[in-house]
Amino acid sequence: MPLHCNGVSLESAARRFGTPLYVYSADHIIGRLTLFERAFRAVPHQVCYAVKANSSLAILKLFADRGAGFDVVSGGELERVLAVDRKTAERVVFSGIGKTAPEMDLALRSGILLFNVESEGELELLSERAAKLRIRARIALRVNPDVFAETHPYISTGMREHKFGIDIRRARAVYRKAGKYLEAAGVSVHIGSQIRNAEPFGAAAQRVAKLIAELRRDGHAIRYMDLGGGLGIEYHADHAFDAEERVRQYAAALVPVAQSVGGVKLLLEPGRFLVAQAGALLTRVLYIKKNGEKNFVIVDAAMNDLLRPALYQAYHEIVPVTPRRAARKIVADVVGPVCESGDFFARDRELPPLRPGDLVAILDAGAYGMSLASNYNSRPRPAEILVTGRRARVIRRRETVNDLIAPEDL
Ligand SMILES: *Cc1c(COP(=O)(O)O)cnc(C)c1O
Repeated sequence: MPLHCNGVSLESAARRFGTPLYVYSADHIIGRLTLFERAFRAVPHQVCYAVKANSSLAILKLFADRGAGFDVVSGGELERVLAVDRKTAERVVFSGIGKTAPEMDLALRSGILLFNVESEGELELLSERAAKLRIRARIALRVNPDVFAETHPYISTGMREHKFGIDIRRARAVYRKAGKYLEAAGVSVHIGSQIRNAEPFGAAAQRVAKLIAELRRDGHAIRYMDLGGGLGIEYHADHAFDAEERVRQYAAALVPVAQSVGGVKLLLEPGRFLVAQAGALLTRVLYIKKNGEKNFVIVDAAMNDLLRPALYQAYHEIVPVTPRRAARKIVADVVGPVCESGDFFARDRELPPLRPGDLVAILDAGAYGMSLASNYNSRPRPAEILVTGRRARVIRRRETVNDLIAPEDL
């Protein structure tokens, strides 16, 4: 049976909207948010979707309409959230190690929920900006708990040698420097991304809990416990994986810690887990070729459209949208047209036989797909469509070369 996204045939979507094409299921995204809400219902909490996973306005709107907040890591992401609904500012946390004064001013004026401060220098600058604007703001220090989590080295962030956060052993001293415009209201932590086991999250939460107790003894009224994002999915089809059970185990590691602290609202910043599996990148086979013993399937999407394989050696399942019956499998590299050997989606992958013109779906591409896309090789970025029930809607039109050259001058 040809692949569908809810009630929409992928073959007809590709014919209608062209390829490469990002397709997202609204129902799937809402389903994942619901799993989170259910798993954490025993404690006061706020899901703050991590915008960088997929920052399309229509997807942000799905979250905003259901009461979710946002974790932003730049002024640009904050502006996107404000463009969707200014009122969600009160549910926004602002993370990131390199906030600039203009970004701080925008966030202060918008009245966000919490600044996650990642260095003493940032604390000083934020305190200055807040005093200048005469706006009081709530802060949390993002502490580095020195917890090891098994994931790709580029997306592990919770150890002392990483650039993120403030050494948890120095945190109390830094909180004392908050100044009169900054209220020390929370503690936050984020240990990395694509972490599939709950244990390191629990370990980090316990270190945060201990710090909250100490900070309260120091006289700070800590009301927010931000435990970051990072819950992983399974990209390999043959790894059995029950999303509901995974969130339940994640919540089971965190909820008792939050309860033991008491008097805190838990802030959660999932990104990938909410959107990755709701999205696929559709691409058409352009050519099949053989160099020596190796087969290559050349498709019309490239690393500029989906960078994860090139950046993290990430694995994505690739499936033909309309499979042929009973033909022998081939082993091939699936590659794009970009002039880089790193431009691949799969290496030595066993695939059903493919022909030029065939449509394939690169699965689990809803997170860190379009948000990491670039215009390398002057390739316009793909269109994005959102499927709700039987209806497909363009949420971002395909770029044109004119869009690319518009800011330039001869
Ligand atoms: C990237 C990021 C997240 C989201 O990570 P996921 O792995 O997508 O859940 C959450 N919080 C912070 C501070 C981040 O940098």
